[in-house]
Amino acid sequence: MNHKSKPASRLSIIFILAVVISGSILTWFSINNISNLKELTENRILEEQRELASRISNAVQSKIETITVGYKNEINPLGLMRDSLIKTADSHSFVTMPFILKTEGPFLYPNYKWTIENPTKAKSSNRFNLAFRKGEEAEFAKNNLRSAKKQYLSCLSYSTGKYDSAKALNALGRISVKLNEYENAIGHYKLIVLNHFQETSGDGLPYVYFALPQLLKVSNPENHEKILPLVELCLEKMEMGSIPLNFSTEELLTQVIKWIQENTFKSSKKVEHINQLEKNINDQLQFVNEYRNEMSEILKEGSLGNHLNVGNDFKVVNYFSGNNQKLLLVNTNFENPVGFLIDANKLFDTLLTTALQAGFGFDYNIEFPTGYNPNTSGQNLIYSSQLNPYFPGQMIQIKLKDENLINDLIKRRSWIYGIATSLLLVAMILGVVLILRDIAREKHLASLRSDFISNVTHELKTPLTSIYMFAESLLLGRVKSANAKKEYLSIILKESLRLKRMVNNILEFSKMEKGKSEYHFINSNLAAVIRSAIQDMSYWFQKGGFEIVTDLDEKIEAEIDPEKMKQAIGNLLSNAYKYSTKTKKVFIRLINKTDHIGIEVEDKGLGIPEDQLTQIFEKFHRIDQKESISGTGLGLTVVKEIIESHKGKIFVTSKIGKGSKFTIILNRQIEEA
Ligand code: ADP
Repeated sequence: MNHKSKPASRLSIIFILAVVISGSILTWFSINNISNLKELTENRILEEQRELASRISNAVQSKIETITVGYKNEINPLGLMRDSLIKTADSHSFVTMPFILKTEGPFLYPNYKWTIENPTKAKSSNRFNLAFRKGEEAEFAKNNLRSAKKQYLSCLSYSTGKYDSAKALNALGRISVKLNEYENAIGHYKLIVLNHFQETSGDGLPYVYFALPQLLKVSNPENHEKILPLVELCLEKMEMGSIPLNFSTEELLTQVIKWIQENTFKSSKKVEHINQLEKNINDQLQFVNEYRNEMSEILKEGSLGNHLNVGNDFKVVNYFSGNNQKLLLVNTNFENPVGFLIDANKLFDTLLTTALQAGFGFDYNIEFPTGYNPNTSGQNLIYSSQLNPYFPGQMIQIKLKDENLINDLIKRRSWIYGIATSLLLVAMILGVVLILRDIAREKHLASLRSDFISNVTHELKTPLTSIYMFAESLLLGRVKSANAKKEYLSIILKESLRLKRMVNNILEFSKMEKGKSEYHFINSNLAAVIRSAIQDMSYWFQKGGFEIVTDLDEKIEAEIDPEKMKQAIGNLLSNAYKYSTKTKKVFIRLINKTDHIGIEVEDKGLGIPEDQLTQIFEKFHRIDQKESISGTGLGLTVVKEIIESHKGKIFVTSKIGKGSKFTIILNRQIEEA
């Protein structure tokens, strides 16, 4: 038997080693994997951040190109170029100012005149000049306003050109105000605004700059709705550059806004538009103020060869302003250089709305700080780099939206690996335990088997010796009396029966093991079967001085295999006989219950330890008892098999030194079947 267990233990050692080694490798890998995962994720984040920074830089480039692409060639005439520049600026929020320059530097658009020129005007006719002088004399020296008005009206009829008309209308407007003829004043100024907005007075100031304050002055609740569109028109023309801006524009705008705020108008749309126009014109004023000197400097450099080309011949001339938040682009290839002022922050805002992070595994926050902050570099996965060569000193900073992402990831992974490794360990331990248990069982069974062989031999030897002795005595004629002869023969018979039961048990067990047991169920009277089993044992019971107490319900019939059932009950009786000590009393009961049939075999013998009440039904299992009672350890195994084949149950209750009671429960269905 021993040599059989060796390959098993070797196999199990190989198995345990394989499991332990692979388990350890897996654990090592999982630990390693976690640290690799951290590194890999960090690398991936860094890669994505780099890619994002480059995408943003490219997006800056392409945004700028979308506005410059329309100006590869010069657009003529200049008015068309201006309109196109304004349209481009309007459709891109980040373009704060489009502009056109004269070759020498000053701005053509926004149209700002910082020196009031005294233009050479077409000469007025003599009669116009005479009438105008008379008008002025009457107005200022004599204070005869009516006469002055008459003279100015004549001037209007004498006027030969736009300049004369504007001059006369301006004087008429002024005199109407003085005469409190507001309707007339509005009429005159309206004509200036509509038709003569480009005419300038003798000192070079456009007449609208006189007309507009006068209109505001005559405004009252009855007429202000008429004045509103004229104000709007004026401001529109200023914004478009048709009316030049100058040193007094700002003051004029202040007056307009004050007037707008002090009055209520029907059209909120117009009011809104005027407010917007005021803002735009002020922006133009500010722009002109800020860049007018710079522009002349820039243009002195001619081709701007040293400056960065952003594409389509537009050059960045930022560094002059030293302002990172603004990007100044100029194309000097045209007769009148053109350009745009770009607001960096607004440009970045438009970038952030585009799908820059498409295809990334993680989400990032993008910031645009100015100046390099060495503290943030490389820390907590914050990526910092120069945004784009056009914005010197402008940084881009990319952070993970979820700062704890890596830690969470590692934690999650650690949990998963931890659980998996623990499960693996548990499985490994379980596997090892099961293997060891199987080995132990195998060993136990092997030793039981070897005991069984010697037990069987011993068991067979006893009745065989008796049979041999009694048969020999009879044969040699040693027994004389007929009674003694009969007794000897009866002993031989009983011993043969005992031998038969033993062999039957072994045969039944062998069939059982091969799964070849055959049953022939027939309707039988259970009491008769039990009696027959008692009968077979009666010789031994008598010999041992046993008291057999039966309580059998004679009426119970059941569908059973009577031979097998007799064998089972015989085994129980044989055990009761074998394991009885002083009190030699056996109770046999057959009880009819409503839902089952009960068969009980009870003795007052040795009893069975509680922890072995189920084990005694296992094959070869025997209890080590002081009283070395011979047996094979198969009797109860066969009983259990037979009862279970009858779909019944067997169990035992016992007390050490008090006896045991075996109970068979047979299902009623057997009877019905
Ligand atoms: P055996 O041939 O040893 O009797 P069994 O399978 O019939 O084999 O019984 C198994 C063991 O159960 C016995 O060795 C015995 O120790 C115990 N046993 C069985 N019946 C009784 C009983 N009536 N009283 C005490 N012990 C019993």
